Amino acid sequence: MAPRKLVAGNWKMHGVSADLAEIAAIADAAGQYPRVDVALCVPAILIERATRAVPGFAIGGQDVHHAEKGAHTGCTSAEMLLDAGARLTIVGHSERRDAQRESDSEVKAKAEAALSCGLDVILCVGETLEVREQGAAISTVLAQLDGSLPERSASDAPLAIAYEPVWAIGTGKVPTTAEIAEMHAAIRAKLVERYGDGGGAMRILYGGSVKASNAAEIFAVDDVDGALVGGASLKASDFMPIVEAADGA
Ligand code: PEP
Repeated sequence: MAPRKLVAGNWKMHGVSADLAEIAAIADAAGQYPRVDVALCVPAILIERATRAVPGFAIGGQDVHHAEKGAHTGCTSAEMLLDAGARLTIVGHSERRDAQRESDSEVKAKAEAALSCGLDVILCVGETLEVREQGAAISTVLAQLDGSLPERSASDAPLAIAYEPVWAIGTGKVPTTAEIAEMHAAIRAKLVERYGDGGGAMRILYGGSVKASNAAEIFAVDDVDGALVGGASLKASDFMPIVEAADGA
């Protein structure tokens, strides 16, 4: 049986108190789609206010430190995210892999720390345009998974993979459905190799310029179990049609 679809918004560095009303609008509208899991990953400093504003709705972080505590100025631990009310966190987003030079092994440690604390994890992988043009997209993404998948296999549900081609993020460019299908099948095979049946049930999300106009086509692709959505998650009017497309898939 295909997993329930998950549509998660990544608000990146957007969101202050005035935006809690938009989060409430999204949470309220998400109630109309009980067959879809909907979540918003907001700036760490907004998590507690967001969870108070929309009790019962899944609010997440966008990054987590791998250590439990210590001398890590400006960082947020998994326990802190959980304590603020987060249910999940993104790890390994390409903007962090690039700007913060996060390695696969760091991403793996972050995923393990978050899972051990009881947070669900969305672990991002994806190739640059240069790598795709060299014909090395699949080998690159599989190598990222080899380096960043957590050892802990346990059960399927807490870990989702987001395939996010770097060149598709925020650009309006999207791979063909055949390219998405090929990559998601390769990721699925890797997850099954690593985790057995559990890997067969893990969700594989697509991310990169998902919007109302392309969501249904993307959700119809085999092994696309949802989406990680950046820009189009900031407004209920842009985000909810994507959730609706997941509901209809
Ligand atoms: C993202 O940053 O995870 C993302 C998918 O962004 P966008 O939807 O804006 O391309």
